[in-house]
Amino acid sequence: MSDIKKNFSRRDFIKRAGAAGVGAALLPLSVLNNAHGSSTTNAPEQMMVPKRPFGKTGANVSILSLGGVLKPSDQLVFRQAYKTGVTYWDTADSYGWGKNEKAIGKYFAKYPDDRKNVFLVTKAATSNPEKLTEKLNTSLQRMNTSYIDMYFIHYVSNVKKELTAAVKNWAEKTKAQGKIRLFGFSAHKNMEDGLLAAAKLGWIDGIMMSYNYRLMVQDKMKRAVEACVEAGIGLTAMKTQATFSANFYASIGSETDDALKMTENFLKKGYTEEQAKLKVVWENPHIASICSAMPNMTILKANVDAALNKKELSGADRQRLQRYAQHTAPGYCAGCSQICESATDLDVPISDILRCSMYHHSYGDRVAALRLFNEIPANVKSNILKADYSKAEKYCPQKIQIGKVIKKAYDDLI
Ligand code: SF4
Repeated sequence: MSDIKKNFSRRDFIKRAGAAGVGAALLPLSVLNNAHGSSTTNAPEQMMVPKRPFGKTGANVSILSLGGVLKPSDQLVFRQAYKTGVTYWDTADSYGWGKNEKAIGKYFAKYPDDRKNVFLVTKAATSNPEKLTEKLNTSLQRMNTSYIDMYFIHYVSNVKKELTAAVKNWAEKTKAQGKIRLFGFSAHKNMEDGLLAAAKLGWIDGIMMSYNYRLMVQDKMKRAVEACVEAGIGLTAMKTQATFSANFYASIGSETDDALKMTENFLKKGYTEEQAKLKVVWENPHIASICSAMPNMTILKANVDAALNKKELSGADRQRLQRYAQHTAPGYCAGCSQICESATDLDVPISDILRCSMYHHSYGDRVAALRLFNEIPANVKSNILKADYSKAEKYCPQKIQIGKVIKKAYDDLI
């Protein structure tokens, strides 16, 4: 193994990188559009993360969104994000079992004037209107705010089944009450089908979906994004750095030489491979924002720097990313679960389990991995070791060794 291999990898980079709202009146989106408001710093415009229109909703949002699970003690990260113009904040009622929302609430309690300048997103994983109301009220209370800018149903994988007429009624009623401004969903699997179906509904304002240098070049994803653009739906990309499973590293021994050459090449140009992966997604003007987990100031700074960096990727850079995507495809689950799950003899949520593996091994977030894994019903869990994955492996477009990776994830998380 070369010194470079030993000394630098994406994972190493990540490791090294180390409520106004209370009683606030619902402000028009035009106010939010000028969200580098007076209570931010007097930083020059060029030092602030730029904004883009969020579909045709009338909102403008920062192209970088503060995601991940921050704790109440992480107030400096929120403050620095706000000061650098990262004013799109993403959370979910489940993140850190509510701690992430409480952390945001703590910030707004200290800086109440900042609430009007933040595009605040939270999510709940249910399509039951009563539960949605209950969860929304909890989120509002935790975050010290009277409204949410964008409310997502979390983890939608089947738009027809989950976005029912009852959900539409709930969204309309809750908007009329002033508790949410916009409504949509997040999709971690079967994203393309979800986007295409949502574009036909006519009542979805925004979608947050897995979208990265691997997925954005695929024809179906391009069609799905175009359909949403046509429908005026605002799009937020997540999983943009398309981390792949450490189990894959285990199967090939290490990263490929090509991957390491790519890393060196980007570093020579003044940005890291991870920053290049953000830049390539921002090249699509229809992606309003990238939601990125930024658990510390170092990663926040690296991502803000990428957002401010005007240097464009070259054609050769894009080709490098594509070659890297091809070489590492067997380590990345593209979320097309209708392919593998319908080819497996027993009911197993394959892409969800691969996501658990990614959270656990690549993000080092065992808590998130366990939370997701423990949502799998016991009778379904009991299928995991019994199922035959041979056909699923045959049809998997990423050529993932599904059986091996699933069993490893099971052993790690049970
Ligand atoms: S395992 Fe393969 S087929 Fe299944 S969701 Fe992942 S990439 Fe798609």
